[in-house]
Amino acid sequence: MIKYKLVCKDCEITFDSWFSTSKEYEKLKKKKFLNCHICNSLNVEKTLMSPNILMSKKDVGIDSSSQKYKNIKKTINKYQDFIKKNFQYVGENFAYEARSIHYKDKKFSKGIYGTATKEDIKELREEGIEAEVIPWIKENTN
Ligand SMILES: [Zn+2]
Repeated sequence: MIKYKLVCKDCEITFDSWFSTSKEYEKLKKKKFLNCHICNSLNVEKTLMSPNILMSKKDVGIDSSSQKYKNIKKTINKYQDFIKKNFQYVGENFAYEARSIHYKDKKFSKGIYGTATKEDIKELREEGIEAEVIPWIKENTN
């Protein structure tokens, strides 16, 4: 899943929209299925802002031998593959890099993902820097 900030070139409002992949966005745009929520204009573009993604170290809290866990793991693995391909790993520098993007307009060619402490996340939120937190399963666990 990927969140884009879309902007309407006609009435200049911005709004968030979720897409399963960046390709889905292109597809919908081509088919003219993307329109402004306010004025219905098709003159809608995604802004260049990439989302920040945080890996949560917290366990999903489910018995790892259960079927439910296996299903969740499959979904999470799909996200992980997607994120690894489309985002740049910054590890524990996440808070620092997220601030660089926010305050210094530092550009990454991709969105970033990494880890941060609970306190970091709280501080980032207070500063108006958004990050999606997703559960992360280490690959070598079964
Ligand atoms: Zn509009």
